[in-house]
Amino acid sequence: MSIALDPRVAAFVQARHGLLIDGQSRPALSGSEMPVHNPATGEELARVAVAGKADVDQAVAAARRAFEGSWAAQRPADRERLLLKLADLLEAHGEELAQLETLNNGKSINLSRAVEVGAGVEYTRYMAGWATKIEGKSLDLSIGAIPGGKFRAYTVPEPVGVVGAIVPWNFPLMMALWKIVPALACGCTIVLKPADETPLTALRLGQLCLEAGIPAGVVNIVTGIGAEAGAALAAHPGIDKLAFTGSTPVGKLIGHAAVENMTRFTLELGGKSPVIVLDDSALDSAAAGAAGAIFFNQGQVCTAGSRLYVQRKSFDQVLERLHGIAGSLAIGPGLDPAAQINPLISAKQQRRVLGMIDSARAQGASVICGGAAHGERGFFVKPTVIADVRPDMQVVREEIFGPVLVATPFDEIDEVVGLANDSPYGLAASIWSNDLKQIMGLIPRLKAGTVWVNAHNLLDPSMPFGGFKQSGIGREMGHAAIEAFTENKSVCIAY
Ligand code: NAD
Repeated sequence: MSIALDPRVAAFVQARHGLLIDGQSRPALSGSEMPVHNPATGEELARVAVAGKADVDQAVAAARRAFEGSWAAQRPADRERLLLKLADLLEAHGEELAQLETLNNGKSINLSRAVEVGAGVEYTRYMAGWATKIEGKSLDLSIGAIPGGKFRAYTVPEPVGVVGAIVPWNFPLMMALWKIVPALACGCTIVLKPADETPLTALRLGQLCLEAGIPAGVVNIVTGIGAEAGAALAAHPGIDKLAFTGSTPVGKLIGHAAVENMTRFTLELGGKSPVIVLDDSALDSAAAGAAGAIFFNQGQVCTAGSRLYVQRKSFDQVLERLHGIAGSLAIGPGLDPAAQINPLISAKQQRRVLGMIDSARAQGASVICGGAAHGERGFFVKPTVIADVRPDMQVVREEIFGPVLVATPFDEIDEVVGLANDSPYGLAASIWSNDLKQIMGLIPRLKAGTVWVNAHNLLDPSMPFGGFKQSGIGREMGHAAIEAFTENKSVCIAY
């Protein structure tokens, strides 16, 4: 049964949603608006402003004024205090934000509470602490050219400047925080473009930033369409650093646009992460782990464990268990806390996922379970496991971003290393085993930004996160996030 909506959420959804520029909410200069939908019903949920190039220009100008003015005047301790205040506000408004996220994205209210809000608050507090701990290095020089000369050099990490951030729809609030919080901790200002489909929690977050006392213009939110507002932000010469999370094809466009202006950039992109189950592993927990790795957030996770490789002796047993788990998962709207599989983000995404399942069937793969839409309303896809696949099939090679797992048996460790690495992506991987020797041998051979052992999809603010190969460039989280939003200046003093 669905939970009752917080009246503040209903009121927020119905309000007019402008762009947040220089601390003010205002319509797009063109007056254009677009609908956003509730994925559980397919119905229109709210309308938001559609930013054009001129709006993006104004947002970037506001961020520049704040960077050189009110924000530059804040001491590291002030920035830390403001971000901690923001974390308190996120926590205080947690239920409201969680419900809003579930309405707009479709995900389980449990996930919205625990991950978008819970992990988002933890992340904000962790990153707030870095504001007062950004340090350079003192260098002992060996310059001997000037007899009797004395030198001292040191490095200063300075804020990179005005950040342009573009984020996807799968974790809308958390992705916005992953960009905004470290940028502000480092002393940057920001223009954020949320995903077309999921702008609502970012807009509410923008209001909470102001309520926390973060000065006007430090955080600007431009809602709209990727190919317009996103492209205008990516190509803007007034942006010093682009922080992008999204698909690999769009990431490449961002990289090209950035290089034109020599804008610094980090790209967090797609994945097709392998889950490797060795014969010695505890099969119940390995199967439960593999199910969690792919069905969490309906597989709409960049690190989703979408390719399963099981050592041959255990293959049938693991598949049988997976079949049982997939069949037992309750499907329903995210506002029903008992529903474990919720709708995908959009009708387009539902069609895409079902189309990829159909193409696997047509190529001779076996759909062990699921493989179809669920219900008449909303964008649901049943949890799906596919076997009898070949490495060249589209379902094995491409990111599906849905609750679809492809399973393959293997015999030797060398074979599974080859299969796991046979992908343009390299975001994450997991190994399920209790054999330390095998595990320690496998870890360095996997081309992945994160390797989990007997776990999958575990992230912590202190763990650098990012991809090898076409899964991205650069790292977020931990100290890596501070490096991503600062520029190192070397100072050399002759005395
Ligand atoms: P997407 O690439 O279609 O869109 C991401 C963002 O880019 C959106 O805000 C969109 O409006 C914007 N955009 C689209 N076209 C643009 C353009 N031409 N110029 C500038 N901006 C543009 O991705 P999506 O469908 O929203 O999200 C799913 C993808 O995100 C998946 O590939 C997933 O793996 C990836 N992702 C990666 C990570 C990570 O950290 N590696 C995390 C979450 C999601």
